[in-house]
Amino acid sequence: MRSVTVELPNRYEGKGKDPDMIQNTYKLNSIDEIPELAEKIHEKPVYRSASCKVLLAWAQLWNKDDFSVFKQEVLRHFQGFSIIGSNCHSYTDILNVRLDGSGEERGILLTFLFFENSGASLYGIRSGFREEDRQGRELRELILGTRDAKGVLLVPPDYYSCTEDILRELKDLKDIPIFGIKTSLHDGYSAFGYEPGGEVMEGKLLALLFKGEKLSIRTHYNLGWVPIGKTMTVTKEDNPFFVDEIDGKPASFVYNKYLGLRNDQIIPQNLSEFPLIIDRNGVRISRIGIAGPKDGQLIFGAPVYLNDRISLSYGNSDDLFEEVSRDNEEIAAFEAQAGLLIVCSNRIMFLKERELDEIELYRKQIRDTAVVYGYGEIFYLNGQGGELNSALVSVFFKETGLARPVRKTVHIIESADAREKDMGFEPPNDLIVPFYDRLSRMFKEMSADLITAVKAAEDANRAKTAFYSAVSHEIRTPLNSILGMNEMILKECDDEDILKYSENIKSSGKLLQQLINDILDTGKLEAGKMEIIPVDYNVREVMGELAGMIAYSAEEKGLKFSYSLDEGLPDILHGDEKRIRQCMLNLLSNAVKYTDEGEVALSVTGGITDKDHAVLKISVKDSGIGIRPEDIEKLSIPFERVDKSKNYRVEGTGLGLNIVNNLLALMDSELMVESAYGQGSEFSFEVVQGISHTGGDQNGSVKAGTRQGKEGAGGNGEDLITRDASILVVDDTKMNLTLVGYFLKNSGIDVDTAQNGYMAVEMAKEKKYDIIFLDLKMPGIDGVEVFKRIKEDICGLNSGSVFILLTAEEEEGIRERFGEEGFSDFMTKPFTSSMLEDIIRKYLPDEKII
Ligand code: ADP
Repeated sequence: MRSVTVELPNRYEGKGKDPDMIQNTYKLNSIDEIPELAEKIHEKPVYRSASCKVLLAWAQLWNKDDFSVFKQEVLRHFQGFSIIGSNCHSYTDILNVRLDGSGEERGILLTFLFFENSGASLYGIRSGFREEDRQGRELRELILGTRDAKGVLLVPPDYYSCTEDILRELKDLKDIPIFGIKTSLHDGYSAFGYEPGGEVMEGKLLALLFKGEKLSIRTHYNLGWVPIGKTMTVTKEDNPFFVDEIDGKPASFVYNKYLGLRNDQIIPQNLSEFPLIIDRNGVRISRIGIAGPKDGQLIFGAPVYLNDRISLSYGNSDDLFEEVSRDNEEIAAFEAQAGLLIVCSNRIMFLKERELDEIELYRKQIRDTAVVYGYGEIFYLNGQGGELNSALVSVFFKETGLARPVRKTVHIIESADAREKDMGFEPPNDLIVPFYDRLSRMFKEMSADLITAVKAAEDANRAKTAFYSAVSHEIRTPLNSILGMNEMILKECDDEDILKYSENIKSSGKLLQQLINDILDTGKLEAGKMEIIPVDYNVREVMGELAGMIAYSAEEKGLKFSYSLDEGLPDILHGDEKRIRQCMLNLLSNAVKYTDEGEVALSVTGGITDKDHAVLKISVKDSGIGIRPEDIEKLSIPFERVDKSKNYRVEGTGLGLNIVNNLLALMDSELMVESAYGQGSEFSFEVVQGISHTGGDQNGSVKAGTRQGKEGAGGNGEDLITRDASILVVDDTKMNLTLVGYFLKNSGIDVDTAQNGYMAVEMAKEKKYDIIFLDLKMPGIDGVEVFKRIKEDICGLNSGSVFILLTAEEEEGIRERFGEEGFSDFMTKPFTSSMLEDIIRKYLPDEKII
């Protein structure tokens, strides 16, 4: 091996100017070179003038015997220095998983720091198994007892010292960086320390405490890898270095699954691009876990704790460089005078030759910057940080605040040969899996995770809606009974107080009913079960009714309401009138709800587009509270209400606009919103409707047999009084039968009821009814079957009666089905007394109505 000694001249020396602190770094290849170098150092003027001298002496890959010779030589020749010495590995022992220290490379890095008026003191703190807390407390005392303490270089006594437990004791120290490194995994690793005039310290936690009023130390932690994919949790560990389980599975599954590695392939060479990242108190800390002695176990070089949240990460060399470049810009501004880089060997494995470029960036700041490679970088500042991996910690010193130019000539540190050799790699053995195989495996597994997560979220959402729908459905029947009974109270009671309570029950009940209907609609929309059912309808009638309803509620709030309808629109359109009505009602009631003064305006425009189609343009404008631009896109999120502070008094669920949006989408339309916050909003949409050529005459009446709006059935607000009328109501829910009886108590109608289909068929044989109401779903024979059996007897008493289907809610396709089956109409439950009266009024012969 060629022995090269390269001196890295310091830029300030010999220039006649007091240089503050000076750093000299030397790289030797043999212990034999130490005496000659020592002579040179002792001759330097700064050796005599310095207020304090520090030597960091890192030997590389030396066996125990060689290291002890090295130690003796250093101690013999540099008595005037505070010394920290250590035996460190080179990257090759990671590469070959060679922990026995039998590597060939030899290297010595000696860095001398000469302070002008600052200083450093070395302390050896007694070590001890699981006594890190005590060591931390002792160190804390030392720091607090030192005037102008500025930072600590920490060298743990052995590899398994849990530095994070030491650091935890220092969390309240302000602006004092702690930095250091565990340099090796192999047996030969040991560190020693020496303070002039004192004993040699060995087997201790070494803490070199930098101090001085004029001293500044700038530290920075560079990582460059970013977490990707799902976050997992450490669920079982032997101790913080041996992890058994992650997410309840053998820890190695992280690599088995995502990188496609067998357990014997879990070696640093296959992991360097994808360190694991732990998010610990706001700092991303990287970890590389290699296969442990137990199958499925991972060993980490630095602590990983139970419940740590962990994920894979990915980096590319450009990202690493970008972070390091930013660090360098700040160092240039800091105007450093000495530098120390604490670098994880993983960066060499990952960056390969480019690692030298990374270091070179720093050496352009300070030529003599010392670089130490290791396995566990220590960085801790203001309670953040810990034992790191894959990191580059930069530590830069200066003694005064004097501005100095930092750029200088670039010296060649090592010969090209030496550099080649340093960066040479052992040929990969057959355990190394090609990078692209690992990468493509990782992306495949991660996207599979994403797909599973999306599906789980969708399933959960569907389950939620199904649950809401089921609950709502169950609430409907009892709620209907409550409201029905309440209606009776309103009709029959004279007591003012009770009537007031009853009115309250009614309005709260209506709100609850609306909520239930909205939830059921949302469920149907989400399940894709909402159908658009076009019928012929009279546009003037429908719009007129809506306008009438809203005019009333606007007036109650003291708002002006205006309504206009374009004369160019045909009278009878073909489309889903019920859903258009529902959308408009939502927009109109919102307009009234969210407007405190001014006006609400409904305008219906549009016209014929071709002989079969017309476009209907609806606009609802208000002068209300308006919506902030950033809130507009949140409007259609289910259960989302915006501007909550203003709206907290306004009742609502946040479902309305979501339903409107979804219904409009089913009709190939969309909701447009324009709003000025504090001034008002306009909600509008356009739908294409068919023009009915058969549906009605131009006077606006719609052909019998097609459905009209319930409200349009001709209720005149007066009580229904009849003579000689009889009806049969068949429903398996007894409460509904009771309600019908109550509702029609004063109408003079003879009401018969049956709780099942068989009874109904029998009753129909005995008595003639004007109208027979049949519940669709009943145990035994259902409504349609009852209808068929009664109709079978063409000469029977009820072969010519009117049959009305009762459905619990609007069943899919019911609007088409009731007609096909031969029913005259249908009525949805829950129904109110006026709905019942209206439908009876519609089908009872005129002569029977008084
Ligand atoms: P809800 O009115 O039941 O809360 P919606 O889905 O109908 O639910 O509306 C969602 C939100 O949009 C409302 O909570 C309200 O903040 C806002 N919003 C709707 N219409 C208007 C309007 N005309 N003016 C101001 N804000 C409105």
